[in-house]
Amino acid sequence: MASKSKRQQAILKRNIFLGSVSLVLIAAIVLIAWVVASGLSDSDTNNQSPTPSQNESTDNTSSEAETKKPLDTTPQPVQLGDFQGDANFTKTILVNNKNPLPQDHDYKANMMVFPSEYKWYSQAEVYRKIDKDIWPYLKAMMDAARADGIDIGIISAWRDYGTQKTLYDAQIKKWKDKGYSEEDAIKEASSRVAVPGTSEHHSGLAVDFNATQTSFENTKAFAWLRENAENYGFIMRYEKEKMDITGGIIYEPWHWRFVGINIAKEMNALDMCYEEYCQYKGIGDYIY
Ligand SMILES: [Zn+2]
Repeated sequence: MASKSKRQQAILKRNIFLGSVSLVLIAAIVLIAWVVASGLSDSDTNNQSPTPSQNESTDNTSSEAETKKPLDTTPQPVQLGDFQGDANFTKTILVNNKNPLPQDHDYKANMMVFPSEYKWYSQAEVYRKIDKDIWPYLKAMMDAARADGIDIGIISAWRDYGTQKTLYDAQIKKWKDKGYSEEDAIKEASSRVAVPGTSEHHSGLAVDFNATQTSFENTKAFAWLRENAENYGFIMRYEKEKMDITGGIIYEPWHWRFVGINIAKEMNALDMCYEEYCQYKGIGDYIY
């Protein structure tokens, strides 16, 4: 009896052991399957849609549709040096080759002359103009940069239609002088100088800093802007990888555009250019 009972106990122990091993195996398989499935769906989401910024979404389970909010225009005070700004203040105009300014656009409306100490080199007063609503943000940004020892100045801000036409015609002539056909000269010129009526400089919301050369990206000024410009509402408008969307404008590390503080931060977090952002938020009646 004793030995039979021992054998039964041994069998029982073996069955318990095998059962435990099976349960552990099943649990492991379920866990692996779950990890693989969640990993796949995560990368799918990342490929198809931008990840909302951490500031924007406190609920990780909400879908993109739920986190996509319309523009918030409620005033949100923010202190920028001596100036009290509004983090939700924006100017939504979009100007590119598909979206020229309307024929009756008043190019001179809302412009002011900015003080000469903010220019980069000798500039006639007629070209030292900027939208007067965004100037306090631009001034605060440049004052902060200079306080950090950054050498920064404006080489180009607002341009009227006539000035843009002079620049554009000069570019076409340059390429025709090199022996290009009219059609090819226009193509070359258009990727370097915006067609009159389609330059963001017409809006008075964009500025070129220091040098219109790609090497500007290697300067301390550029590094500072990359780090801080969003806190003053500015974005780098023409990124390398967005050329197809921004209207074929070449990479311009020197060209910065005011969009508003909260929008600039959101655009950077979403890695969107302004065309993408306007479409994402349903801003304006633009052609994309
Ligand atoms: Zn520019």
